[in-house]
Amino acid sequence: MRVLVADDDPGSLLVAKAAVEQSGHECIAAADGDSAWELYQQYRPQAVVTDLVMPGLDGLALCRAIRAAGTDSYTYIVLVTSQGSREDVLAGLEAGADDYVTKPLDPFTVHTRLLVALRITSLHADLARYRSALAEQARTDPLTKLSNRLKLDEDLELLHGLSERYGQDYCLAMCDVDNFKSYNDIYGHPAGDIALQEVAAILSGQGRKSDGIYRFGGEEFLLVLPNQSWRSARILVERARAAVQALGIVHSGDPTGVLTLSAGISAYMEGHRPGSEQLLEEADTALYAAKAEGRNRVAIASAIPGDGA
Ligand code: GH3
Ligand code: MG
Ligand code: MG
Repeated sequence: MRVLVADDDPGSLLVAKAAVEQSGHECIAAADGDSAWELYQQYRPQAVVTDLVMPGLDGLALCRAIRAAGTDSYTYIVLVTSQGSREDVLAGLEAGADDYVTKPLDPFTVHTRLLVALRITSLHADLARYRSALAEQARTDPLTKLSNRLKLDEDLELLHGLSERYGQDYCLAMCDVDNFKSYNDIYGHPAGDIALQEVAAILSGQGRKSDGIYRFGGEEFLLVLPNQSWRSARILVERARAAVQALGIVHSGDPTGVLTLSAGISAYMEGHRPGSEQLLEEADTALYAAKAEGRNRVAIASAIPGDGA
């Protein structure tokens, strides 16, 4: 464990440093509160053993600064107080310290406190890992491993806000597998699942790194294309459509003989800056038009000014 020790008294600092190192931990020593705070930010120690009274930032202020930093990992803080000062102990714990030891420092006491520190910080680290795994899981579609609607809502809100602020363009492409109900009927639901996975994989391989792809619903996928005009979006989506057809997933219920995809594109652009909800609707309406025109094609939203659809 990495432990930061702060004390303005050089003798006490040496004793504390020796105690920490004897316990088998790495020690960073700070001769006052201000340098303790700087070293804390630089080295992110798992535990801090700090004197209460120091010039500059004192022990209480250091505790508060560490807690306010609100990093993902937990820092266990041990306050070093003078004998018999109950008010100091209380103020320290209220400021965010986890425990206290009294001066003069006893190496055995430091050792036991650091054992607890190690256990508590490991528990916090486990918790942070679970939390991040759960957050990831909640935003992932289990079948295709693509991001789901929840992630889309978050990403789209962010992108829309940025595009609004900086006057940038972006496009949405709503994609839907053609005649998929009949695919399930002919080949069975498990085969349908595999086909969806293959379509998802091929769609993920298209476009730029900053482009987003989401499973919007059953056999619907949404492409989010930042900093993109509808013309370049159309080229990309047309390429994606062709790539799905080129997969050659046999579908006897489709006129082409293989599984195909239709898509509708909407754009947030100069002269047309609606809300993201409306943009989704426009992409959906364009998709509907692509279906009506015979499927296996890409249509541009009619709301796009001077569209070349
Ligand atoms: P269209 O060309 O107009 O899009 O017709 P369609 O048959 O593709 O559209 P429809 O909405 O009628 O049917 C969609 C089908 O997609 C029905 C549903 O059972 C299937 N589906 C949705 N989610 C899944 C899934 O996760 N796995 C499988 N195998 N099928 C799914
Ligand atoms: Mg469909
Ligand atoms: Mg559908």
